[in-house]
Parts: sequence; structure tokens; C-alpha cells
Amino acid sequence: MIGSGFGGAVAALRLGQAGVQTLVLERGRHWTYSPTQQVFGNEQNPMSQMFWQNDFAIWLTMQPTLIDRMPGLMEVVTAGGIQIGTAACVGGGSVVYAGVTVQPRRRHFEALFPAGVSYTELDQVHFPRVRQMLSASYMPEDIYRTDPFTHSRAFDAQLKRAGFPTQPIRTTFNWSRVRGELAGRLRPSSVIGESSFGNSNGAKHDLTQNYLPAALATGNVRISQLTEVTSIAVGPGGRGYTVRIREHAPDGGIVATRELGCDMLFLAAGSVNTTRLLVRARDTGELSELNEHVGTCWGGNGDAFVYRAFEGPTGASQGAPCASAVFVEDGFGMPLRIENWYALAFGGEPYLSQFSVAVDMDNRGTWTYDKATDEVKMLDWGPEKNLGPEAAAAAFSNTIIGRGVAGPSPILPPTGGTAHPLGGCPLGRATDLYGRVEGYRDLYALDGSLVPGNAGGANPSLLITALAERAMDDIVAHSG
Ligand SMILES: Cc1cc2nc3c(=O)[nH]c(=O)nc-3n(C[C@H](O)[C@H](O)[C@H](O)COP(=O)(O)OP(=O)(O)OC[C@H]3O[C@@H](n4cnc5c(N)ncnc54)[C@H](O)[C@@H]3O)c2cc1C
Repeated sequence: MIGSGFGGAVAALRLGQAGVQTLVLERGRHWTYSPTQQVFGNEQNPMSQMFWQNDFAIWLTMQPTLIDRMPGLMEVVTAGGIQIGTAACVGGGSVVYAGVTVQPRRRHFEALFPAGVSYTELDQVHFPRVRQMLSASYMPEDIYRTDPFTHSRAFDAQLKRAGFPTQPIRTTFNWSRVRGELAGRLRPSSVIGESSFGNSNGAKHDLTQNYLPAALATGNVRISQLTEVTSIAVGPGGRGYTVRIREHAPDGGIVATRELGCDMLFLAAGSVNTTRLLVRARDTGELSELNEHVGTCWGGNGDAFVYRAFEGPTGASQGAPCASAVFVEDGFGMPLRIENWYALAFGGEPYLSQFSVAVDMDNRGTWTYDKATDEVKMLDWGPEKNLGPEAAAAAFSNTIIGRGVAGPSPILPPTGGTAHPLGGCPLGRATDLYGRVEGYRDLYALDGSLVPGNAGGANPSLLITALAERAMDDIVAHSG
């Protein structure tokens, strides 16, 4: 297994329960939380351990700052005209994400996925199972009413007055830890707007607190941290697979390179890295039977940030858990889910962060192997492919301002970034309907690479995890 994020954690648990000896190779570290110490830096206090093998602390609106290269929490990939954030730690994106756990609408899901992938089945079986495993829940009223969520109440009031009433949404924050922060028992983290580079006190129900310990408890699963897979190939004599790895020292540097063999190989390295491994393997001839869909259908999920003002009171900080959202089908060029977000840098300023995901059915990229540099790149994604979702997000915000309930507004220039990379190994094209990679036996992709560039107007973690659960139900049922 490659990767311990959402797809990898599900696969590890279900394989372990089925009695399959499973080794999870994870490039990042298993970080230990502390109730009182700052384990991770944040956007205003950049530290080297926030970034995967980078000379600069750089992400969206952060000012680039020199740092030391080390196996830190998040890899930032610039591919053509888009900056992509993708996790690099045990637990994958669940450690750095904002915990928003929402499902796509049926109409958009069915426009994206093959008919054989049943929305009804996901809705009745897999979405509820995942919500329960991840302890996803609505923000309790007592927390919503506190000072750090003044911005959430202002967002809800603004949208209601403008004619777009919001609904509460589920996240995977641990409310008793949030209450602990509010009461001064824990170092403030989620309530001051830390999330994108982890919560030092473990304030989210991330995968290191549910799926992964359950997988380890089966006795059949091991996780090898700081172990990066560099390439994959068919095994000796055409049997199984060879996986080449390099082992990282926690504070930087490579300590070893090796080859491992396995009978079954699950790729769950996330959209960008599963895609890079598969495209390289196909185009260097090491897995030459992979089909032409590998590398395709990549998209940034229509992510866009917009900032606007509100009238006080403001609160001393902006808490990270998202309280609410509204889904708007028509009127802005693309259907949009607009969420109440936060910004650490705003502190007590009267500015709101609006995050949106657009149902973008058109803009897609393709990853290709460049023999000259020995790299897998996406060369066909220019900045113009970000414009539709960004224009839709700005148009929504301008409507709010136009209705006289916000502003004058400091709308920042489009950021051209995504935290939601999707696609590269699309379900039903590069794989069968359950993630079995076409062209090979016992080779599976089980992560965001299966989702064809857009999650249908949802933040993608619930969909990715539910698709992995559905795939594992089938794979375990049909394996000898
Ligand atoms: C800042 C931020 C906020 C987000 N907020 C939300 C949110 O609120 N709600 C939501 O639904 N989604 C959110 N997301 C997106 C979500 O985190 C991802 O969609 C999700 O994690 C993808 O799951 P995955 O299983 O595809 O891969 P990941 O969770 O990314 O896991 C992949 C794992 O594979 C490992 N890996 C990669 N390459 C290799 C290799 N070569 N060898 C070994 N290991 C490797 C990585 O280190 C990682 O642990 C956010 C993402 C970010 C960055």
C-alpha cells in the first residue's frame, strides 16, 4: 500500500480485517500531538516542518520565507498555472484539512461518474459509514456563540440578509478539544485559525485517531513512515510488483534506498502522486499495459477564495471549524457551494473569508512523462483554467456587496490554487468501477485520483473515503 490518507486508511483497515498482511508505505512522519506545545507552525509563524522538501514556506497568500528542506507536512506542487497543496504525513490530508465533510448532490455526481457507480448505494451505505467512522458532526450551539466564531455568525447574517440563507454543515472537529481550548485547558489552536498545517493538540478526528489505529489493531497492518515510493514496476518473472523506495531522515536527507516486492499493490498516494507514479510506470515501459486514461481527467475541484468585509463586532480571532454553507445552483456561471471559512491573518479585523467549490465540468488537465527531465508534469493547465470557478466565486461575493450587506470590500486577486487535487486515474476509465487498474491484476488505485477532476460541488474527502469503502467491499468480497 502506498499512502496513509483517506483512501489508504480505508484499504488498510479492510485488508487487515480480511486477514491480509499489509505494509503501508508512507513518505511522511507520524506526528505526535501535545495539549500544551506548538508541534506545527502556522501561516503567521512558518516553520520548516510545515512543508515537504521545500526551500520556501509558500502557500496561497503566504509571503515566501526561507526554510530548511525536510519531510514536512504539506507538499506544494506548481503545475502549469495552478498551485496544488497535498499532504505528506501519516494520516495524509486528514491532518491538514479543514474537516468539512459534505457529500455531492446526486445530479452533479451522476454527471461525473459512470452509471454503474450508484449514488443511492453511496448515500445509503458508504456516506453514513464514513461519517460515523470520522465522527463528523455539526458545530454545537455553545461553540458557535463564542468569540472566535463571531466571523461565522457574521457570515451567516450577511448571506441571510442577501437572500442566500446558509445551512449548518458537518466537520470532523473534536468539540470537547475545542471547548478545552476555549476554557484554557489546551493550547489555543483551532480557535485561533490553525488547521491548514495541522492542529498541535489533535483537535480534529483525523485518520490517526480512527481508521489507522483500527487497522493496526487487526494485527495484520504495519505502517512504515518516512518511506517514499519513487517508482513501481512488474515484479520478477511477471509476478507481483516491485516497489522502489527511499527512506527519509526526520530532519532531512535520505538514509537508504531499497526495493520491496509484493503480491498486491494499492496506490493511495493522493491524486497528484498516484498519477505521477502510474504515468511514469506506463511511459517508461515498467507498466506498459496501463491504458491511455492514466494521467487524464485531472482538476482542482473548482476551488476559489474570496475575501470581503463585514461590520463589527469582529472577535479577537477567527476559529477554523466551518459552521455553515449555502449551495447555489444558478446565476453565477457554475453551481457553487459557498462555505464560511477563516483566516489566521485576519485576527480581529472585520474581513470574512469565503471558500467555494464550483461544479466545473470543463477544465481538465493531463499529466505526461518528460523523458528529458525524467519528470511527470501537467503542461496543459494554464491560468485560464482557474478563471471560471474564480469568476463564479467573485460574482457571488459581488452580489452580496451589491445587496448592501458587505463592503467596501478588499477582494484579493485570485490565488490560482487548489487544496483539492482530483483525478489522474479516473474510475471506470483507467480502472474498473472499483479501482482495479486496467491492464494488470492485483493493482488498485483507491484515492482522489479516481474522482474525475471535480467532486460535484463538494469538498472531496467524504466522497474519496466512501468510494474507497465501496471499492474495498467489492475487492474483499471477490478476492480468493
Ligand atoms: C489545507 C487543506 C484543507 C483541506 N480541507 C478539506 C476539507 O475541509 N474537506 C475536505 O473534504 N477536503 C479537504 N481537503 C482535501 C483533502 O485533504 C483531500 O482531498 C484528501 O486528503 C485526499 O485524500 P487521498 O486519499 O486522495 O490522499 P491523501 O489524503 O492526500 O493521502 C495521500 C498520502 O500518500 C502519501 N504519499 C504521497 N506520495 C507518496 C509516495 N510516493 N510514497 C509514499 N507515500 C506517499 C502522502 O504523504 C499522503 O499521506 C483539504 C486539503 C488541504 C491541503
